[in-house]
Amino acid sequence: ELYNKVLELKGNIRVFCRCRPLNTEEVAAGASMSIDFESEKDGELAVKSNGLTKRTFKFDAVFGPQADQADVFEDTAPFATSVLDGYNVCIFAYGQTGSGKTFTMEGTEEARGVNFRTLEQLFCIIKEREKLYRYDVSVSVLEVYNEQIRDLLVPGNQPGAAAKRLEIRQAGEGIHHVPGLVEAHVTNMSEVWEVLQTGSNARAVGSTNANEHSSRSHCIHCVMVKGENLLNGECTRSKLWLVDLAGSERVAKTEVQGERLKETQNINRSLSALGDVISALATKSPHIPFRNSKLTHLLQDSLGGDSKTLMFLQISPNENDLSETLCSLNFASRVR
Ligand code: ADP
Ligand code: MG
Repeated sequence: ELYNKVLELKGNIRVFCRCRPLNTEEVAAGASMSIDFESEKDGELAVKSNGLTKRTFKFDAVFGPQADQADVFEDTAPFATSVLDGYNVCIFAYGQTGSGKTFTMEGTEEARGVNFRTLEQLFCIIKEREKLYRYDVSVSVLEVYNEQIRDLLVPGNQPGAAAKRLEIRQAGEGIHHVPGLVEAHVTNMSEVWEVLQTGSNARAVGSTNANEHSSRSHCIHCVMVKGENLLNGECTRSKLWLVDLAGSERVAKTEVQGERLKETQNINRSLSALGDVISALATKSPHIPFRNSKLTHLLQDSLGGDSKTLMFLQISPNENDLSETLCSLNFASRVR
């Protein structure tokens, strides 16, 4: 068994831990692994340092370096069914830069990730249900950078001053939306692929260092689904959020200044706001601090209540990354 499954649902929040393989450079440099998968059972993994087991952590599922995109998606697919059943769903990838967030969510053309596969699964179920339900699907792609929302489906919409400012508005109890955001109507997977590519390409536009920019911003796909039961005319509306979060690595305040310091503060603010919201929901706190960041404000309708949340906790196996790995693992224990 490459990984273990815990099928029992713990509330509506699930955390899957995924560890990337060591890359060629790390192998060449003789890097040692800080994560032990041999002793892993029932979603547990052990963190090692200097060959000794330091701590163990438990998750709803653990995917080791051997697990491929299809293995990961097998446990993710039920969330697609939930969306068509009328539930709001949020899927996040959290972790330090280089830990595999974009690989898990976006993937590559040969090894497509959760974004593509979840939409593929949606269309597959829509086909299965076509005699009973009619569905309408549209997709928005946006980025939150420095607490500003940018529409990635608008051609030439560059980061910074040139970008059209988008704001979150409340249109009624539990209805938050972003007026002006492009919603691309999609009816099949080739249209979906085109929209995903447009969004992905737009991320790099206008930034001097595309990789740097994408690791400092949250990339968000919102899939809006309207369903109609053809037998009784009942309608459902649900949203699926697919979020590739900004890198969670800590940056020493003394090392950064100016624009970079502002970026760092905004990332810290939104990631800790997300942690605060999810842990408040998990402990059924009466006050959920949604308004503390653009990210949590945007997702407000889809976090809590009967919504379902899946967090991919991405980690590096490299012992040199151990302190960031421990921070990520601790973040996960807070939200679970
Ligand atoms: P992040 O988005 O967290 O910064 P990336 O997804 O860009 O990290 O991953 C960093 C590198 O590691 C990429 O080259 C990616 O293809 C590779 N990688 C990440 N996870 C895996 C995995 N599970 N299997 C194979 N390669 C991976
Ligand atoms: Mg990335």
